[in-house]
Amino acid sequence: MARKFFVGGNWKCNGTVEEVKKIVTVLNEAEVPPEEVVDVVVSPPFVFLSLVKSLLRSDFQVAAQNCWVRKGGAFTGEVSAEMLVNLGIPWVILGHSERRLLLGETNEFVGDKVANALSQGLKVIACVGETLEQRESGSTMDIVAAQTKAIAGRILDWNNVVLAYEPVWAIGTGKVATPTQAREVHTALRKLLHDNVSPEVAASTRIIYGGSVNGANCKELAAQPDVDGFLVGGASLKPEFVDIIKSAT
Ligand code: PEP
Repeated sequence: MARKFFVGGNWKCNGTVEEVKKIVTVLNEAEVPPEEVVDVVVSPPFVFLSLVKSLLRSDFQVAAQNCWVRKGGAFTGEVSAEMLVNLGIPWVILGHSERRLLLGETNEFVGDKVANALSQGLKVIACVGETLEQRESGSTMDIVAAQTKAIAGRILDWNNVVLAYEPVWAIGTGKVATPTQAREVHTALRKLLHDNVSPEVAASTRIIYGGSVNGANCKELAAQPDVDGFLVGGASLKPEFVDIIKSAT
C-alpha cells in the first residue's frame, strides 16, 4: 500500500507575529509537490495557530504542539482537544520528547492524550524515541516499543495517526541519525505494528523520522524504504524547509 509522504514542521516555542508572517510567506510562495503527493503540516505555538491557519495556503495544514489529556475545565494553562477542533485545527503533536523529558509526560499519560485527542476528532502525530544513554546501553528498541505500545493500545482508528520516530540524541543537536539507524528502527516499528495491531495498519501507517533533518540530509533519509517523511524542528523555521518538502519526490 502506497503511503503518502508527510512533512511536519514543529516550530516549538519560537516566533513573533512578524517572524511567523515571514515563514508563512516563504511557504505560500514555495513550489512543492501537490497535496496528492505530500502532506505538509506546520505546528506553530498555540498563540499563533489561528493567525497561521488564516494566512497559510490551503494545501498545507496546521497542528498544535500539545493538548490536554481530557475534556476542558479547571485546568489552568491547558488547551483542550475540543478547543482545537472548534478552531478548525486538524492535527496535534503528542508525546514529543521535550514534553516527556522536561514535563515528565509518561508513556501512559501520552497514551491517554492520544486516545482523548482522537476521540475528539483530531489527527495525531505521536512521537517516540530513545535517549543517547538508552541507545548506548542497547535498549533502543525496548524503549521505543514500550512507548509505541502505550499509544497503540489506545488507538481504534489508525487512519488519523502518524508515528514519529525521534531519537532524543538527534533532536536539536545537529547529530542526525544515519539512514541505516533510522531504517532499522522504522522497520522494527512497522513489524511491531504488524505483530501487535494488524498487517493492514503496519502497511498503511506513516512512520516519519525527526532529529536534525535539514535540506542537505533529507534526500538520503527519504530514500529509505520505511521512512515516510519527517518531523522537522529547527529547519522548519528556515527556507530550507521547502527543500525538505521537496524530498517527497
Ligand atoms: C523536533 O523537535 O521534533 C525536531 C526534530 O527538532 P530538530 O529538527 O531541530 O532536531
